[in-house]
Amino acid sequence: MSTSPAPRIAVIGAGPGGLTCARVLQRHGIDVTVYDRDASADARNQGGTLDLHADSGQIALQEAGLLDDFHALARPEGQAKRILTRHGEVLVDYRPGTHEDAAPEVDRGQLRTLLADSLTPGTIQWGRTLTSAAANPDGTHRLTFDTGITADVDLVIGADGAWSRVRPLVSDAMPVYTGVTFVEAHFDNVDTAHPAVAELVGDGHVFATGDHKGLIAQRNSDQHVRAYIAITDDVDWYRAAGIDLDDTTAVRATLLRAFAGWDEQLLTLITDNDGPYVNRPLFVIPAPHTWPHTPGVTLLGDAAHLMSPFGGNGANFAMLDGCELALAIARHDTLDEAVTAYERTMLPRAAEAGDGAAALARNFGPGDRDPASIPDFAEAGEQYKRGAAAYRNR
Ligand SMILES: Cc1cc2nc3c(=O)[nH]c(=O)nc-3n(C[C@H](O)[C@H](O)[C@H](O)COP(=O)(O)OP(=O)(O)OC[C@H]3O[C@@H](n4cnc5c(N)ncnc54)[C@H](O)[C@@H]3O)c2cc1C
Repeated sequence: MSTSPAPRIAVIGAGPGGLTCARVLQRHGIDVTVYDRDASADARNQGGTLDLHADSGQIALQEAGLLDDFHALARPEGQAKRILTRHGEVLVDYRPGTHEDAAPEVDRGQLRTLLADSLTPGTIQWGRTLTSAAANPDGTHRLTFDTGITADVDLVIGADGAWSRVRPLVSDAMPVYTGVTFVEAHFDNVDTAHPAVAELVGDGHVFATGDHKGLIAQRNSDQHVRAYIAITDDVDWYRAAGIDLDDTTAVRATLLRAFAGWDEQLLTLITDNDGPYVNRPLFVIPAPHTWPHTPGVTLLGDAAHLMSPFGGNGANFAMLDGCELALAIARHDTLDEAVTAYERTMLPRAAEAGDGAAALARNFGPGDRDPASIPDFAEAGEQYKRGAAAYRNR
């Protein structure tokens, strides 16, 4: 891409996808501005742990020049997975090898800091919420932020997640509730303060599902455990239950009624948490989500293909999208050729992966989980590595 005159490129959203895109652009000498509504990189809790796959997230980090830094932060032991029945019977206890690098875990907050700190100072304009984006008659786009500030750009990249304000420029699609809500619970200083939870979760994850519900927990860094208490119910289930989400005692009592008869140690994920619960209804954009190519605008990550967390592809794909879009911009003569080439690869990949709604239905169906439905985790790791080799040899 000719950088004279420098194209004005705006990325909306400093999540894993937007930051990866900006980093790879800068590594190729291309100017970019990132806008995010957060006041700073650590303005809010960034969420749990992410496993970055060898064939997607790690490829993006390599192009970003950050793969070694990632491995220095990441927890290979976090790939451990225990699958239990709701009665506490262990179906699978997978422990990865000490140097297994198929999909090491990293806290989202650590990943965001790694990516944000790698950018030229001043690249990210924090505290800027995009309120609207509109096409100008000359083919550029005008971005308007909540502060009243506007910017005219040659390319706007919507990396602003599930409820993207950029998406309406290309598509009418909106997120749809999956019928599954995760109620999040937190455990600090878990090894000493919550030994039963620490034992249950081990180094990685524990999953117990059955009877349309699930208890899932993951070890984050710094002795923190995050649990997802999964229920299949209406999006406003708490209203029907007549409770206030801020009333921790009432939420706990309601959840305990729903999980009556479950194993006592599993129930510590509902009874022993620190602080309030956080309600997280899961949404997807029904796949395939495509749009007519629109000069001057494109989407990546959740803005383009919001998936359920089952499959673990969301952040991985967002980063690969960001990386590939940046490389396309570096390698093509015009922004429009670059975006066309990027969308030609990204849209079919996302369509093939699907929205993950069926996986949710499988995991939170009636009765006990069918052991035959449990993935072979060692083989999944080998697949990521084979996928990485195939990607590099394309
Ligand atoms: C419970 C749960 C568990 C998950 N676990 C995994 C996992 O293990 N592995 C995995 O790969 N994925 C996982 N995901 C999915 C993953 O979190 C997302 O796919 C990923 O964060 C998408 O990255 P993104 O950069 O596209 O968007 P986001 O991470 O959503 O980032 C969007 C950014 O845009 C900013 N923004 C939003 N609106 C505006 C606006 N109007 N103006 C300015 N800025 C704005 C936000 O502040 C945010 O920083 C999980 C999701 C959930 C809900």
